Amino acid sequence: MTAPQPVLSPPVSSDGPLDVDAVRRDFPILGRAVRGRALVYLDNAATTQKPRPVIDAVERYYEEENANIHRGVHFLSQQATFSYERARGRLATFVNAAESAEVVFCRGATEAANLVAHGYARSRVGPGDEILVTHMEHHSNIVPWQMLCEATGARLRAAPVTDEGELDLAAFADLLCPRTRLVAVAHASNVLGTVNPVRRICDLAREYGAAVFVDGAQGAPHLPVDVQALGCDFYALSGHKLFAPTGIGILYGRRELLEGMAPYEGGGSMIQSVSFEGTTWAEPPARFEAGTPNIAGAVGLEAAVDYLNGLGMERVSAYEEELLAYASGHLAEVEGLRPFGEARPKVPVLSFALDGAHPHDIGTILDAEGVAVRTGHHCAQPLMQRFGVPAMTRASLAFYNTRREIDLLVEALHEVDAVMGGAS
Ligand code: PMP
Repeated sequence: MTAPQPVLSPPVSSDGPLDVDAVRRDFPILGRAVRGRALVYLDNAATTQKPRPVIDAVERYYEEENANIHRGVHFLSQQATFSYERARGRLATFVNAAESAEVVFCRGATEAANLVAHGYARSRVGPGDEILVTHMEHHSNIVPWQMLCEATGARLRAAPVTDEGELDLAAFADLLCPRTRLVAVAHASNVLGTVNPVRRICDLAREYGAAVFVDGAQGAPHLPVDVQALGCDFYALSGHKLFAPTGIGILYGRRELLEGMAPYEGGGSMIQSVSFEGTTWAEPPARFEAGTPNIAGAVGLEAAVDYLNGLGMERVSAYEEELLAYASGHLAEVEGLRPFGEARPKVPVLSFALDGAHPHDIGTILDAEGVAVRTGHHCAQPLMQRFGVPAMTRASLAFYNTRREIDLLVEALHEVDAVMGGAS
């Protein structure tokens, strides 16, 4: 057993700008080389890297506290339960939930959407009812609703996106109707970076009595989240996109809605009493956390949130905004590059096409230069169809990326041009 590592405290929050060099030292993986070159990691919308305090928190949990929660009277079980519930409280504060019981731990945004589809919508949606999404949703905010519609006879509708990559709010408002039972919308698009006007969307939906599920997978890593100010009913986030481990995330749900919801999965921990005559459910959030949860993941997610709080989400956003402007300006100078998504505000996600080069070739050539980007449909095939392309190349930034890395991306894109024989 290795000796417990000291926990590095996150850079102290101050009024000054983010010290990106100090921040980078907290992320061990950023110091490694790939293919003989310094790693330039620009695939943060797929998953983010983990700072030392998160890695240490998970390691410490397994070295010092590991036990199953909620059941044991013994010391370790109580300690693990305490840590798990403390993490829930920290997440509640992070999204400004009214109380920690409004935070359900789950695997991530995908499971959160499925939980709402089964637990909330299934019993409230019938033939002729409608679920409204947008054209820019990730598959995980389309397919669960499509499955729900198939099972219930309801209809899935999609609000259009403008050429700039913004939600067409007038068309969205027109699609709302008394049959709309639920609106499911991304806080920020994983392809276009567009930040949707969630508050306005919630106000509009409320006029028709429709609940709003916000997919915050790409919002929470970049923007301060205040579920009460947003006015949403549900908000999902994925830990692994928030500098925490994979396999953990949260669903925030307003208490009165969670209380009226059926369980999603049956099993241990989600019951009040079980007999062969019938079973009664535990109160939320336990009702939605059947089985042994990802305790270490929750501890890691808490550490990630503490780390972000130490940086200050406002400072993170300000730094990323500056980096996005720098990146947008420099990518625009690459000949033959066509950007997708020029909404304001947007999170630092830059998707583009390059004349004469297939995204997969671009990705492979950039990889040889040590630059990690994503290529493909980004789990948003309807959006690819909307823009008339089968795939895009996407560079997605985090607060630990630098201008120097953007320069390397741009240099590598010139390399693409050279390798493809001056295709542009
Ligand atoms: N929504 C958006 C906007 C995403 O970008 C992603 C992940 N790419 C998801 C949902 C799904 O997240 P997860 O796979 O972590 O459940």
